[in-house]
Amino acid sequence: MPGRATVDAVIVGGGAAGLSLAAHLATAGWGDDVLLLDDGAQPLEDRSWAWWSVGDGLLDGAASTVLGAADVAGEGWSRRLDLDPYAYRVVTGPDLAAEVTRLVSPRPGYRRLRGTARSLAVDDAGVQVAYEDPDGRARAVRARWVLDSVGPGAAATVPDPDARLDLLGLHVETDRDAFDPGAVSLMDFRTGQEDGLAFVYVLPTSARTALVERTVYAAPEAPAIPHDPHLSAYLRDVLRVGGHRIVAREEGTIPLRVRPPAAPEGPVVPIGARAGMIKAGTGYAFGRIQRHSAAIAAALAAGRYPGRAAVHRRWARTQDAALLRVARADPAEARAFLETLLRRNPAPRILAFLDEDLPPREHLRLYATLPLLRFGLACASASSRRPR
Ligand SMILES: Cc1cc2nc3c(=O)[nH]c(=O)nc-3n(C[C@H](O)[C@H](O)[C@H](O)COP(=O)(O)OP(=O)(O)OC[C@H]3O[C@@H](n4cnc5c(N)ncnc54)[C@H](O)[C@@H]3O)c2cc1C
Repeated sequence: MPGRATVDAVIVGGGAAGLSLAAHLATAGWGDDVLLLDDGAQPLEDRSWAWWSVGDGLLDGAASTVLGAADVAGEGWSRRLDLDPYAYRVVTGPDLAAEVTRLVSPRPGYRRLRGTARSLAVDDAGVQVAYEDPDGRARAVRARWVLDSVGPGAAATVPDPDARLDLLGLHVETDRDAFDPGAVSLMDFRTGQEDGLAFVYVLPTSARTALVERTVYAAPEAPAIPHDPHLSAYLRDVLRVGGHRIVAREEGTIPLRVRPPAAPEGPVVPIGARAGMIKAGTGYAFGRIQRHSAAIAAALAAGRYPGRAAVHRRWARTQDAALLRVARADPAEARAFLETLLRRNPAPRILAFLDEDLPPREHLRLYATLPLLRFGLACASASSRRPR
């Protein structure tokens, strides 16, 4: 019972990483008492996550949208990508929670706890997790392991991100058929580029409804980006949707960090964004979170230390850092690079590359399509300048 016994683990934060990890731990058959502590500040009803995978992931079946094709475009060109063997998936917060509940149900010692974690104190016997319950009462629970997506009371301040994705999504309803419900539009660069490297993403939910989202790679300190006029222009001039209504808006910022903001400290193991799962080059994290969760679960089930379950590759981190540097100093060059990547490679190669999972021979093929010398010079020039 919380406050008395020592539980096997407390997962701090019940968002993408916390929920995913609970499912992976339960499926690996690890742990008799596992608590998932969440403050409820980010209701799952308002959340959804997109990722791509080949369909063998533990949570792949929870996706409510599964698409086999993706469009990419820029000024004067467009291309439809056949994603096979991958599919682009989107899971809503409630669907993810329902699937996790189903997967943990054979293990009655897995419980959700509503509360706000306040501090973690490590001692020889484990970790004391202090939290506040919904009535404001101070509580504590002892755990052998803490898998932490939040960092309550962390002494070290989180370093500034290297960049951020600034986005505005509009949920649009049109008077006539305007969207292809069989394909996501992953990156369309036909939008104003004056605020930085910008693209529009379109996720259709039917022929007449879609999320139309504009994203800009921005400097961490840059002011909020005025997306509205660009989205109006995109709906009018690129999608030509005609009569339409905006039924909801989603604004957001995704911090892009080349290095994770937190490292494991004994029995406290960071997970999720805190463990650097947001890929700095793309802003996607859900796929990585699945691989990290599986690796942590496998380590614990095998009696190994779970803090070494890395899912990053050093070369990929260097490439992401280069892309962010060029995107900041010379957005047109970064866009040209991404457009070449998308125009000249098959989708499975692009997606495996972004997953940092491309075999060496395919890697060489991908590099052969890219303007690496030009990009290298742009990166060197960006590195020699002081950031704006
Ligand atoms: C707007 C936006 C859209 C994104 N879309 C995608 C996408 O489509 N695909 C993708 O791959 N990535 C996406 N990302 C990136 C990444 O996947 C998400 O940020 C993801 O939610 C990170 O997972 P997490 O578990 O680390 O954090 P979160 O999902 O944010 O979970 C943290 C949880 O901890 C809770 N919490 C906070 N403080 C406390 C506390 N003191 N005590 C207890 N609980 C606490 C929060 O309420 C929350 O429920 C997006 C990011 C943003 C910001």
